[in-house]
Amino acid sequence: MRNKKILLSIILMLILILSGCSNTKSLSKQLVLKNAYESKTITWGVKADTKLFGLTDVKDGKQKGFDIDMAKLITKKILGKTGKAKFVTVTSQSRIPLLKNGNIDAIIATMSNTPERAKIVDFSNSYFDAGQSLLVPENSTIKSTKDLSGKTVLGVVGSNSVQNIKIAAPKAKVLQLQDYAQTMTALKSKQGDALTTDNGILYGMAVENKGYKVVGGTFTKEPYSIAVNKGQKDFLKETNKAIKEIEKSGEYNKLIKKWFGDVPGFNYKELYR
Ligand code: GLU
Repeated sequence: MRNKKILLSIILMLILILSGCSNTKSLSKQLVLKNAYESKTITWGVKADTKLFGLTDVKDGKQKGFDIDMAKLITKKILGKTGKAKFVTVTSQSRIPLLKNGNIDAIIATMSNTPERAKIVDFSNSYFDAGQSLLVPENSTIKSTKDLSGKTVLGVVGSNSVQNIKIAAPKAKVLQLQDYAQTMTALKSKQGDALTTDNGILYGMAVENKGYKVVGGTFTKEPYSIAVNKGQKDFLKETNKAIKEIEKSGEYNKLIKKWFGDVPGFNYKELYR
């Protein structure tokens, strides 16, 4: 009798464990577009520490930036007027794992479309043209990547900027921190001589922090794309269609002007499509 009870509880436990497993599996396998239509919601992974692209406004706690506005527009194009864009904060390092785990439907977070990443996620057509550059204190003698020998360059874990800089300036030391807020603090406290990432992000930092300048032009091409899980072809197709519509209707150029029109030294018209 006792043995029977034990056996029963073991079977019960096994059933529970197995049903739990199949739930997580179906979560990552589920059809994102079908789910979005049903829930009238798309959940986007966005940055919260990146001015101009995705930054939390301390006044109302809402995330704001070019990526956020693009996500909102794309959501409306796909789901109609009542469609809702939900935002989950990601960092350069956490964005792919969060997508893979099914916590978010898509990433729109200053993410370059690279061949390496394309092996694990699917990318939309590019929606923004960035390029890697350097941010230095105004009185710095660093003018380009050529002046970085023996210097310490700050970057963010999970960004491809930290790999690119090792190629562009092999004799520089690279210090990787968790997010862009931390890299700016480190630059201010002189833990590094320069900060490297994409030009748009650096201009955002220069706007917020007096006494710093973007130098050296761009030394890589960083096309930003939306990332979705593999096997979500319908969702990707709708996303690409939405991007095209936004560009055609002039909404795209309006957003470029809204976010980059007042940034000193930044030629925003080059970004028009
Ligand atoms: N675009 C680069 C990347 O995808 C740098 C910006 C970022 O860290 O998000 O890695």
